[in-house]
Amino acid sequence: MPKKTIRDLDVRSKRVLVRVDFNVPLKDGAVMDDTRIEAALPTIEYLINGGAKVILMSHLGRPKGKPDPAFKMDPVARRLEELLGRRVRKIDSCVGPEAQEAVGEMAEGDVLLLENTRFYPGETSNDPEFARELAELGDIFVNDAFGAAHRAHASTYGVAEHLPTVAGFLMEKEISIMDKILKEPDRPLTAVVGGAKIADKMSVLLNFMNHVDNLLIGGGVANTFLQAMEHEVGKSLVEEEKVKPALDIVESSRTNGVKLFLPEDVVVAEEISPEAKTEVVAVDAVPENMMILDIGPKTAQKYSEIIRESRSAVWVGPMGVFEHDAFAGGTKAVADAVADVPYSFVGGGDSAAAAEKMGVADRITHVSTGGGASLKYLGGEELPGISVIMEK
Ligand code: ADP
Ligand code: MG
Repeated sequence: MPKKTIRDLDVRSKRVLVRVDFNVPLKDGAVMDDTRIEAALPTIEYLINGGAKVILMSHLGRPKGKPDPAFKMDPVARRLEELLGRRVRKIDSCVGPEAQEAVGEMAEGDVLLLENTRFYPGETSNDPEFARELAELGDIFVNDAFGAAHRAHASTYGVAEHLPTVAGFLMEKEISIMDKILKEPDRPLTAVVGGAKIADKMSVLLNFMNHVDNLLIGGGVANTFLQAMEHEVGKSLVEEEKVKPALDIVESSRTNGVKLFLPEDVVVAEEISPEAKTEVVAVDAVPENMMILDIGPKTAQKYSEIIRESRSAVWVGPMGVFEHDAFAGGTKAVADAVADVPYSFVGGGDSAAAAEKMGVADRITHVSTGGGASLKYLGGEELPGISVIMEK
């Protein structure tokens, strides 16, 4: 990776301010899924072992720039304590006298968790004064919050103006796996793109034209392509203003030598519900009162074969409305196949959930912890939270 990481600095006795992504789902005051906390442990443990004073900060949920009891970081601190097996001090502020005192009392190897950064309006507006006050707490800034790297907020971006800035291990892992896929993949490289909104995936599709060998399209995204290819798609979700761009992608796949695949058969129903009566039809026979809600078994089989013949795979967006078993077949098939590929990456929040639900997450090289951020990165965008990390 061209960026500096915590390995490139001496952290002993230093006050290391670490932006982590502890934006975890909570229920009844407890952490429901600690994947993101676990993903930050390698960085935190490395800093503890290196004798740093570890000051952690994160946002949680969407409090509106003021304290909100429902989004306090206390449950996160308790779970982190369990995972680390050592005390984590948690305070009720991010800046000001309480924070400065708490940092002043830290010894080497201590861990302090600040309050939710979004309790301050200056976080999302990247207020220079708030960023400066945060930066005052540390000697070094470590950005390990890949999931928040697409936002230029005070704690992901503004602080970096005042402190030497390096990547943590999670940030490094996310970036280097996507870089490998985009820059020097083991080929063939197959991309699988689905999900609800084609608008979110447009830049990814465009960027993939320069990188992938095969592009398999499913989910709601496929509907717009099918419409572009002049298939009747009934009541399916289609983004009219993206029909032309979809056609351009089909064209570009030809000039770039990308093999682009669209569903040949699909699962249709009149409604999205667990009781919906489903049918499998060819793409040229979608009834006008029905919606395409999954790729069909023939397509799933074909996609699986292409994926299994690949040496790298990148998957963004489920193949159907996988939340209901009746429309989960295509996503299950793709998930199983992606898990069999030697080098695999899953981006997008719902795709990560799908990989988890299908029980394949631990057989995938990396399931991104940053849904939106991974899509932006795969789309070729420079993310603000990465741009501030020092070059090697
Ligand atoms: P990701 O978060 O992985 O980027 P998206 O947010 O774009 O994925 O899309 C995920 C959603 O897409 C899922 O909730 C799924 O139900 C929905 N979806 C998939 N296929 C279809 C379809 N054919 N019609 C409507 N919704 C779909
Ligand atoms: Mg999503």
